[in-house]
Amino acid sequence: MLTINHLAGATKRSQVFRARRFQVYTDRQIESIERLRKLPREDRFAMQVVASVLPFRVNQYLIDELIDWERVPQDPIFHLIFPQRGMLSDGDFERMAELHRRGADKAEIQALANELRQGFNPHPAGQLALNIPMEDGRRLAGLQHKYRETVLFFPSQGQTCHAYCTFCFRWPQFVGDKELKIASSEAGALHRYLRHHRQVTDLLLTGGDPMVMKAQNMAPYLAPLLAPDFDHVQTVRIGTKSLTFWPYRFVTDADADEMLRLLERLVEGGKHVAIMAHYNHAQELSTDIAREAIRRLRDTGVEIRSQGPLLRHINDDFHAWADLWNAQVGLGIIPYYMFVERDTGARRYFEVPLAEAWEVYRNAIQRVSGLGRTARGPSMSAGPGKVEIQGVTEIQGERVFVLRFLQGRNADWVQRPFFARFDPEATWFDRLRPAFGESRFFFEDEYEAMQERRVRTIDSR
Ligand SMILES: *Cc1c(COP(=O)(O)O)cnc(C)c1O
Repeated sequence: MLTINHLAGATKRSQVFRARRFQVYTDRQIESIERLRKLPREDRFAMQVVASVLPFRVNQYLIDELIDWERVPQDPIFHLIFPQRGMLSDGDFERMAELHRRGADKAEIQALANELRQGFNPHPAGQLALNIPMEDGRRLAGLQHKYRETVLFFPSQGQTCHAYCTFCFRWPQFVGDKELKIASSEAGALHRYLRHHRQVTDLLLTGGDPMVMKAQNMAPYLAPLLAPDFDHVQTVRIGTKSLTFWPYRFVTDADADEMLRLLERLVEGGKHVAIMAHYNHAQELSTDIAREAIRRLRDTGVEIRSQGPLLRHINDDFHAWADLWNAQVGLGIIPYYMFVERDTGARRYFEVPLAEAWEVYRNAIQRVSGLGRTARGPSMSAGPGKVEIQGVTEIQGERVFVLRFLQGRNADWVQRPFFARFDPEATWFDRLRPAFGESRFFFEDEYEAMQERRVRTIDSR
């Protein structure tokens, strides 16, 4: 076992890393996780109950090296991965616990799980209705195009992760019902779409986690982008939590070098390759293997940018964010977004009021150098766009939130300051009301019209 090393800085090139076999545990194997046996039986039972509703998946690296078991249950990585009782309401918990207590069969547990999941807002921000484009009268499954310059693509082999986050906003990707999923295995459809949409500068591969894919499965999506047809696609972004959940992917896995070579080829071909790394806590950067993965990735010429939500129980304090951003800058990672936890899944357990989120952001930003201040936020990915809380202030005697769009369904909404009545309890955009006695926000009429037409403005440009 590697000891967790809290000193900043990259690893030495001479260090040798032993390969690790990728071993995972899901909800059916909770009882076989050695480390958990030291926890009270009722805690394990609660995990079992919650894990039958929300996704659960952990691997041996996280158990052996990243979780600090001396600090369990407070440890942030423990909370990031292991289900906790409070993630379900008392009512939901009791109903599911009852089934487990009387040894109900799988079908009965599944049925209740599906029912409870429906109450969790599985597709927030109009994900299925508004973002999936049509071509020749067909929905292009596995593709989302919400903002003019960036297309999201969900390769079907990348729709799982090396472990699951308890707060995942894409949780329906990982449980039950096929109807709720977004995925595509069709590289051809992606390339056709990109060829016909010259305004697209950025392709974002997302999931799940595309880095669970073998390099040889990733290549057919990405390598063709080096052809002149795709010169307009300047940037390939890959969203991933593999740097936290399985850094061996870039160091000792059998196709680690092949994956790095693929990224390097894209860079050499003139693409900007951005690894959009999901991070929540500096502890994720603390192991030698995690730093070695970062070093090897950066050696290929890719940039690593970081983003992640602010979460109760995990990082709801400004020291945690200042430490995270400082550690990232030290390792050459560029802080990008601080998100507000979305209105889905186990949000009740993780949510932080917007006013508090802004205080955390502000205090953390004050404690990092300018290089760490590239992080924008706190940002809500809401239906109309990404809305940033710029601050809380008082204007002519009224306390208000100052807001702006970082991204908008209509690009013209971006960077116009607007104001909402201050509400100390609001945790999401839908709770906010316009300030100064106005009845609507400036974009609302237009957004409503878009929803009625169920088309994106991008089509009409
Ligand atoms: C965040 C996001 C993007 C990328 O936006 P940037 O501000 O360019 O990072 C693209 N599409 C969707 C749906 C997003 O939520």
